[in-house]
Amino acid sequence: MRGLFSRPERPWHQLEVDLHSHSRVSDGTLAPAAVVARAHAAGVRLHALTDHDETGGIAEAAAEAGRLGMAFVAGVEISVSWAGETIHVVGLRISAEDPALGTGLARTRAGRDERAREIGRQLERAGVPRAYEGALRHVGNPALISRMHFARHIIDTGLCANTGEVFSRYLSAGRPGYVAHRWAELDEAVGWIRAAGGVAVLAHPGRYRLDEGGLWALMTEFRDVGGTAIEVVSGSHRPDQYRRFADFAREFGFLASRGTDFHSPGESRVDFGVLPPLPDSVEPVWRDWPEAAGLLADSGAPAAGHAGLARSRA
Ligand code: AMP
Ligand code: MN
Ligand code: MN
Ligand code: MN
Repeated sequence: MRGLFSRPERPWHQLEVDLHSHSRVSDGTLAPAAVVARAHAAGVRLHALTDHDETGGIAEAAAEAGRLGMAFVAGVEISVSWAGETIHVVGLRISAEDPALGTGLARTRAGRDERAREIGRQLERAGVPRAYEGALRHVGNPALISRMHFARHIIDTGLCANTGEVFSRYLSAGRPGYVAHRWAELDEAVGWIRAAGGVAVLAHPGRYRLDEGGLWALMTEFRDVGGTAIEVVSGSHRPDQYRRFADFAREFGFLASRGTDFHSPGESRVDFGVLPPLPDSVEPVWRDWPEAAGLLADSGAPAAGHAGLARSRA
């Protein structure tokens, strides 16, 4: 019955799709298989694991998704430096074993440990005891130490109550534990994703310290270097930002993505299964994916509209 009331002309908007999440392979706390199982239990039908600068969790996640019968695409979230700001670019439907992507990600990860030691020194001067060692205790992958691991240590010490407080007091730009870092270039990150057969998605555009003109410049360059989509409904966005970035997507001709940016039970702002659907005004990035077509066929939704659209875009 549900199909009668759920806009059958736009069935792909109604799929429970989550294309942004993290495991212990980067700065989440769950194993890749446990992230996938949690998404599945919350009703997610099409999922992507998108660890920071690392695809080491994809094989485990894909195997678990296969076991559960959930559609899954391989993903990654690449750290980029652009105009002095850190930007995140998600790659979806990548080939995780692609050598050009692998080399690029290894290079992007390479400076993390040195940066973390400096973050540790600065935090100790600011009164955080044994900061680097404490962060390391939370690390699941020694190649991928992130500010999130420091945040968990600072919470352990009792200095802050939650990650939001840690970031505003210690880890954001201008705070005592912030160490500027040079990540990948925007065109490189998009190029690696495309070389690996994937789609480049600008992650949580509402999180950057950019005004309207800055966002305009970022999206123009992102489109020019081969970016395809932007996150519209994100666990990192407020509801008013869903509308704002839906407008950006239409303006720039980007497809729209949706994902929680899940990191950890009880710690992430948003858990799987709770975000609203994409606004009707945008086209989902999964619209032409075979993984989504299979789900629509299973749900008895009219497949002809989908196939027709796929042909018209080919
Ligand atoms: P890094 O890649 O080491 O700079 O760490 C960035 C990570 O810190 C992000 O991926 C988020 O998981 C987390 N993060 C950044 N800013 C915040 C914030 N304001 N509140 C909570 N977590 C944050
Ligand atoms: Mn993170
Ligand atoms: Mn991010
Ligand atoms: Mn993320």
